[in-house]
Amino acid sequence: MKCKCFEDLEQKVKEKCTKANMTDIECGFKHKALVMTENPYSLVMLPVEFSYRLIKKDGSKGKNTRTETVSIAPTYCPFCGEKISKE
Ligand SMILES: [Zn+2]
Repeated sequence: MKCKCFEDLEQKVKEKCTKANMTDIECGFKHKALVMTENPYSLVMLPVEFSYRLIKKDGSKGKNTRTETVSIAPTYCPFCGEKISKE
């Protein structure tokens, strides 16, 4: 059974915004991915940013620093600790 922490937290943000006299509220975690399985489910990916300089063929460091991001899927819910399953 998949926990509902992410959906519950989005709902709580909406409720707080509503209480603060906000309207037309759109809210959702960034970096959400839809995992297509027999029972599709959404998953929040954790972005990890890294920067580096390439090593040239002669062994010297490249001139430019590059920055990239890789997204990693958590195995367990960061809020309740339940294993994130495909069901
Ligand atoms: Zn959870």
